[in-house]
Amino acid sequence: MLEENKTPLLGMTLDELKKAAQQMGMPAYIGSQLADWIYRHKVDSIEEMTNISKKNLAKLKERFTLGRMVHTEARQSVDGTVKYLFPTLDGQRVESVFIPESDRGTLCVSSQVGCRMGCRFCMTGRQGFQGNLTATDILNQIYSLPERERLTNVVFMGQGEPLDNLDAVLKATQLLMADYGLAWSPKRITVSTVGTRKNLLRFLKESDCHLAISLHNPFPDQRLAMIPAEKSFSLTEFIPLLKQRDWSHQRRLSFEYIVFEGMNDTETHAKELVRLLAPIECRVNLIRFHHIPDTPYQDTSKRKMIWLRDYLTRHGVTTTIRASRGEDIYAACGMLTTAKTKKQNTVLV
Ligand code: SF4
Repeated sequence: MLEENKTPLLGMTLDELKKAAQQMGMPAYIGSQLADWIYRHKVDSIEEMTNISKKNLAKLKERFTLGRMVHTEARQSVDGTVKYLFPTLDGQRVESVFIPESDRGTLCVSSQVGCRMGCRFCMTGRQGFQGNLTATDILNQIYSLPERERLTNVVFMGQGEPLDNLDAVLKATQLLMADYGLAWSPKRITVSTVGTRKNLLRFLKESDCHLAISLHNPFPDQRLAMIPAEKSFSLTEFIPLLKQRDWSHQRRLSFEYIVFEGMNDTETHAKELVRLLAPIECRVNLIRFHHIPDTPYQDTSKRKMIWLRDYLTRHGVTTTIRASRGEDIYAACGMLTTAKTKKQNTVLV
């Protein structure tokens, strides 16, 4: 919970920071100084903003807080992957997973608490929807990450459907990319979606970040059995829409494909994937299924994964097998929060 109903500065745009300064009777340039301290210097407290007078800092602290919320739990895998639970402004908790590699550090961030999409193979889907994250909550997963200086990429593939909370996701990515913010290239950010009718076009129009579509099956009826959102926005509609766009420039389009034994790993599925995707400039990421309790879905064999990758690649669809990380720490999205459903006190600094 926010301490004494104070407003967090983290998550505000430059204009909002300037307005906040003016509301407190200070000149607008204090807002630029705030942005500099928050986003460039990544201070841990308002007191560290040493070029703002003590009098002005005291005034700011009457109404604002930095908005940094440290994690309440961390679990490290034998492979170096770390899963964190971060508090949210309204006292709930969300997961983030840091995945270190030799040449990069990727953070998988959450955009909602729970999710309304109800995908059958997903632990978060089973939790139902508990609320949208704010831009502060989203940015805090990056800002308060112990490994934040090693971060090279952010993927919106944690809990929640990012396009179902698009305003906050766009604001968070705007702050990640702004010159006064973290000044990241959009090439470092990927937003993943099952496809929502209302916001897919808006995302394509308003963001330059990479797009990843959770496909998981090329046949609409079979996909519907896994992903209820197929009913309101079918792949028969969004694939032609994606086909019409030019993907050869900056923005990358990928399709995520969790491979389940006997359900989407046959030659029939491979042929249909080629028919759908070969004409599009895209890549397919094959993902191993992290088993969740009480589900008919089973992980496929390594041999089948390799066969599917080679089949798709041979037929003109660039395909990779995503390395499976952090299985020993419940890295499948939603596993840790499901194990820890009680709220804890938020630690705000
Ligand atoms: S897979 Fe993603 S969209 Fe589907 S229920 Fe889980 S979090 Fe939501």
